[in-house]
Amino acid sequence: MGTAVTIPTIQPGKLWIAGKSVPSATGKDIDVINPATGATFARVERGEAADVDRAVQAARRAFESGPWPKMSASERSKILWRIGELVDKHRDELALLESLNAGKTLKGAQRGDMKPAADIFYYYAGWARHTHGEVIPVDGPFLNYTLREPVGVVGMVTAWNYPMLLAAWKVAPALATGCTCVLKPSELTPLTTLRLAELSAEAGVPEGVINVVTGYGPEAGEALARHMDVDKIAFTGSIRTARALLKASGESNLKRLSLELGGKSPNIIFPDADLDAALPAAFWAIYANKGEVCSAGSRLLLHKDIHDQFLERLVAKSKKMVVGNPLDPKTEMGPQISQTQLDRILGYIHSGVEEGARLECGGERDTEGEKAKGFFCKPTVFAGVKPGMKIAQEEIFGPVLAAVKFSDEAEAVAIANSTVYGLVSAVWTRYLGRAHRLAREIKAGVVWVNTYNGFDSAAPFGGVKQSGFGREMGAHALESYTQVKSVWIAI
Ligand code: NAD
Repeated sequence: MGTAVTIPTIQPGKLWIAGKSVPSATGKDIDVINPATGATFARVERGEAADVDRAVQAARRAFESGPWPKMSASERSKILWRIGELVDKHRDELALLESLNAGKTLKGAQRGDMKPAADIFYYYAGWARHTHGEVIPVDGPFLNYTLREPVGVVGMVTAWNYPMLLAAWKVAPALATGCTCVLKPSELTPLTTLRLAELSAEAGVPEGVINVVTGYGPEAGEALARHMDVDKIAFTGSIRTARALLKASGESNLKRLSLELGGKSPNIIFPDADLDAALPAAFWAIYANKGEVCSAGSRLLLHKDIHDQFLERLVAKSKKMVVGNPLDPKTEMGPQISQTQLDRILGYIHSGVEEGARLECGGERDTEGEKAKGFFCKPTVFAGVKPGMKIAQEEIFGPVLAAVKFSDEAEAVAIANSTVYGLVSAVWTRYLGRAHRLAREIKAGVVWVNTYNGFDSAAPFGGVKQSGFGREMGAHALESYTQVKSVWIAI
């Protein structure tokens, strides 16, 4: 895979606790793999319960007696802004790390990961000064007002598909409100989270406010979820892990949770839509970040009148997609994150064929040339998918699209709402009434009309049903990092 990009030498990653890079208690480590080549290109510490405990103690000290929660809001705001600037300054280096580690295209990592990661710090720098209570008119000779206080120590457990961005979505509002945190990134993609902690220290975040323990979910993650001194867990990942976190919270200190889970999102195209706009949007809705996106438009609902022609164009475009080395500027889609994930995707493809869906393109591992070493999958489209099939119900988290035909609006809504998920959705129509009707009727945390994957630091993001609860970004995220105290003064 020839490329002009210089691959950096990665130093072994230590844990980040109380503002310092420190080894884990056991000294065990984890290999970090480049999914484009299958080769180990870095190592990080395999943190366990004792390390998590050290990190939580550091975060607790920083919360109870450190300067951060008591610092003036304007000072905190400036530090958040500086983190944004440092992420911007190091954008190329961070994007390269993310591309090597997560198999993202380099240009995608620059625009889709690092740019919004910097922006979320700029955005919450503003909120640091706007988070406040209210005065409430109560009966009697009293003044009642509320204080909006930080929840305390927040454990942050994140997935591997947007490592830096998912961390930034949590760290920025937590810091804005005066919380301290312990991050547990995915064992597959720990590198940029460690860099974020270093850059935060450089920006002026005091020691102990941000701590990072790399390690496996059932070891470090579970220890964080069960720790009695953690006040909240902010999680992005699978339903299965979310259940483990809920159980751990119930069996420990009833810590609060916010859960950003998966999706099986419907992208609904009506015959009155601008099909030339809908086509590339439907294409990137499934293939962006090789389908490893919680908001992937993995169910394409096509009205019967446009079904055949739309599908034909989409399949033709899918067959031409450039799959390969993520560092090559011409590449449109990189490898899946791991052999395990690739096997999982191939298993779903097999099930689609078994259940009678029609494989229009792809459907297998891509082993052409150098790609044989990595975890590449061909862009895959299934047609003739029935709403009850496994490939229409379960999140595949790969470049596999399930196209479902529908006849009218009511049927489209019924199909859209027929899974356990409710993360995002999209509707393509020129009829204003239809757009607004569906925006109400679809059970999802986000509805896009005549667009797909619209994100902004100011707009809330999150799911309903088994896609989770709590919101990231926007003013709404502040609610999950703060709690309200009611103060009564007799006057
Ligand atoms: P995962 O649940 O396997 O892992 C997520 C994190 O949880 C990792 O850091 C992992 O180490 C940790 N973990 C695993 N078991 C644990 C346990 N018992 N206790 C504590 N922590 C544990 O998910 P994944 O495979 O990394 O990510 C894919 C999933 O994430 C998909 O379902 C995807 O839809 C979802 N996701 C959601 C969003 C969103 O914003 N809604 C964004 C990205 C990914």
